Amino acid sequence: MMVSPDILIESAPDAIVIVNGEGLILQVNGETVKMFGYQREEILHQPVERLLPERFRSKHIGHRDTYRQLPQIRHMGAGPNLYGLRKDGSEFPVEIRLSPVKVQEKIVVISVIRDITERRIVEDALHLQKKLLEEKVREMDDFIHVVSHDLKEPLRGIDAYAGFLLEDYAERLDDEGKRYLNTLRGSALQLNHLIRDLLTLASISRKASTYTHVQLEKVLADVQRNLEFSIQQKKAEIRVQSTLPVVYCDPTQIREVFNNLLSNAIKFNHAAPPIVEITAREEHDFHHVSVRDNGIGIEPRYQKQIFGLFERLHRQEEFEGTGAGLAICRKIIERIGGKIWVESEPEQGSTFFITLPKIDGSPQN
Ligand code: ADP
Repeated sequence: MMVSPDILIESAPDAIVIVNGEGLILQVNGETVKMFGYQREEILHQPVERLLPERFRSKHIGHRDTYRQLPQIRHMGAGPNLYGLRKDGSEFPVEIRLSPVKVQEKIVVISVIRDITERRIVEDALHLQKKLLEEKVREMDDFIHVVSHDLKEPLRGIDAYAGFLLEDYAERLDDEGKRYLNTLRGSALQLNHLIRDLLTLASISRKASTYTHVQLEKVLADVQRNLEFSIQQKKAEIRVQSTLPVVYCDPTQIREVFNNLLSNAIKFNHAAPPIVEITAREEHDFHHVSVRDNGIGIEPRYQKQIFGLFERLHRQEEFEGTGAGLAICRKIIERIGGKIWVESEPEQGSTFFITLPKIDGSPQN
C-alpha cells in the first residue's frame, strides 16, 4: 500500500511549512495550524516571519536571503534563540530543519518545525540540578579543605610532643611506654596522610584546572623518577609498551593519577620481579591507556568498591596506604570527561584502564 505524500505531510507530528524564494508561505500542514494557532488561510501567502517573534524578524530576512543563494539541507538546531510565535502572541522554543527543493525550476524551502517546550523544561531542570550539585560539591570541598587545614596544626603538636617524650625522657620510659609513644607517632603519621589525601581530593574541584597539552611520555618519566626508591627496592620493571599520546589536561593532576596507579602496581605485588606495563591506543574520540601489573590481583566483587574514598582491602601492616589514591584518580579522570576501571583476577595481576577524551585542539597522536 502506498501512502500519498500529501497525507504524510498533513499528518506529520512536526509542523511543516513550505516557503517560496520570496519568503512567502505556500503550504502548511495540520500540525502547523495546531502549533501556531492560525487558521490555514490566515497564514498562507504571508511572510514566514509572521511565525517568529518580532525581535528576530529583520535578522531572519537576512538569513533567508543568504540561504537562498546557498541552499543546502540545514539544521538550525535548538539554540537558545530559536522561538516560534503563536497567533495569540505567546512564544515557544523550537527546533527547525530546513531543506531546499527545486519545483518547476524554482527553489522552495521546506521547514520542519518541532515544538521543544517539554524537552526544554526537562533540560532546564537538569541544568539547574547539575549547577546545584556542582555548588554542593564545591561547598563540601571547601569545608573539607578548611577542616583539614585546621586539623594539621594540632596534629603536628601531638607528633612533636610524642617525639620530645621519646627523645628527652627515654631513660625514664620503660619499653611499654616507648611502644605506646611509637604507636602514637604511627597514628599521627597515618592521620597526616589522610589529611594530605583529603586536601588533594578537595583541591581537584576547588582549584581552576590549568589545562594544557601534556605529553604522557614525560608524565611517565616524572612518575618513575618520583617512585625510584620503591622501584629499586622491589627491583620492579616498568615497561612502556607503545607510544603514549599527548593529552589535554591538568599536568599536576594527570601526574597524580599515574603516580597512584604505578605505585599501587608495585606495592600490591609480590612477584619477582614486579612488572608494570603501560600501553595506549586510540578508539573513536578517546585515548585508552592501561596500566597492567603482575601483582596480587583483586577479587571481582571489590573491583568497583576500591574507587570509593578510604576503601581498602588490606590492613595497614600488610600494605601501607590510606585508600584515597583511586578515589583521587577517579575524580580527576571523570572531571576531564574520561573513565577509569579495573579488570583483575586474584593472583593474576590487575589492569587499570583509563580513557581520556581527545579534546578539540589536542594533537591526535
Ligand atoms: P591505597 O593504595 O592507599 O590503599 P588506593 O585507593 O590506591 O588506596 O587503592 C584502594 C585499594 O585497592 C587498595 O588498598 C588495594 O586493596 C586495591 N588495589 C589498588 N591497586 C591495586 C593493584 N594494582 N593490585 C591489587 N590491588 C590494588
